[in-house]
Amino acid sequence: MAEARRHVYALTLDEWEAWVRQQGQPRYRARQIWEGLYRHLWPRPEAFSTLPKGLRTALAEQFVFQRLTPTHEQVSRDGETHKTLFRLPDGPVVETVRMRYVRRRTLCISTQSGCAMGCVFCATGQLGLLRNLQVGEIVEQVVYYARWLRQQGERVTNIVVMGMGEPFHNYEATMRALAILNHPQGFGLGARRITVSTVGLVPRIRQFAREGKQYNLAVSLHAADDALRARLIPVARRWPLQEIMDAVREYIAATHRRVTFEWALIHEVNDTPEQASKLASLLRGLLAHVNLIPLNPTPGYAGRASTRERARAFCAVLRAAGVPCTVRLRRGIDIQAGCGQLAGQALAPRPRFLVGQTWPAQGEEA
Ligand code: SAH
Ligand code: SF4
Repeated sequence: MAEARRHVYALTLDEWEAWVRQQGQPRYRARQIWEGLYRHLWPRPEAFSTLPKGLRTALAEQFVFQRLTPTHEQVSRDGETHKTLFRLPDGPVVETVRMRYVRRRTLCISTQSGCAMGCVFCATGQLGLLRNLQVGEIVEQVVYYARWLRQQGERVTNIVVMGMGEPFHNYEATMRALAILNHPQGFGLGARRITVSTVGLVPRIRQFAREGKQYNLAVSLHAADDALRARLIPVARRWPLQEIMDAVREYIAATHRRVTFEWALIHEVNDTPEQASKLASLLRGLLAHVNLIPLNPTPGYAGRASTRERARAFCAVLRAAGVPCTVRLRRGIDIQAGCGQLAGQALAPRPRFLVGQTWPAQGEEA
């Protein structure tokens, strides 16, 4: 039978206020629940010591605290990166990655199980879309890791919405989840510490620009002309580069935030000097940064990662044109780029239990 109880992480503070009113309780009780969930990170209704017993019982009867069950875990060799595969109550899986980088504790979260966009080089795209995540399922990924970090006296400092799925294809749920995480009286993660990555759904980029928030935007470009882009990213046929760039300019005008452009470098496909100069022309003068990630090989795509020399040459063309650029060194799997990998393995005919397995750490080149 389907779970009739609501997910505690799905409600906004306003909705908690409505709920406590229904329970005949004063409004400040909503704030206490909110703080219990997002400041204290209490995992069970019984832990809500600030609430009267009746309200705790109502919480237990009407709400579920956990919808994500961790089933697989990978830890990088240096222990700095953790990747967790969660199973949802109805079967699909999602993954979350935690990365430690100097003082940052960054979470890479998912917004869908699988993805409908079908980018040919992407493990998540190769799965197809299983389903959208609900608001609470997006929030719970963060709460899960926030609890884990707290045990080490640490906290989440940044969130990147770059896990499985296309966040702008599940726009409302993603924005509601981010609003919950950004709320100053609760989890309180600053908007500038949150980055949303999109494959380039133009109307949603425009809507994102109008949210009135300082969330960062990352756009996955991977090609600097429409013909090549369409070969890599089927949805590019619908949204030409010029329209994407217009929408990006709207975002920059509204937020004054620098936009990151992501580029998976594929050997002799999109790592040519010609693509580099086209990209430089596209971005010249824009408040932009290019993040180059050598392709992470996936079973469903024959492309190879660019060599370090070609990556550096590509970056040099951009820098010469005044476009800031970073190459991520790929030592084995780059974790952000590797999103979708773990799910792919777990869904393989003979799933393997991955706890304790390791992969090499990622590095970054200045
Ligand atoms: N759907 C969103 C966010 C999730 S994908 C998007 O596409 O932007 C996060 C990033 O990983 C994107 O830039 C995506 O293009 C990149 N990526 C996916 N598969 C990859 C691979 N095999 N190698 C390198 N980068 C990859
Ligand atoms: Fe979806 Fe992003 Fe993968 Fe493309 S790269 S299939 S949009 S998750």
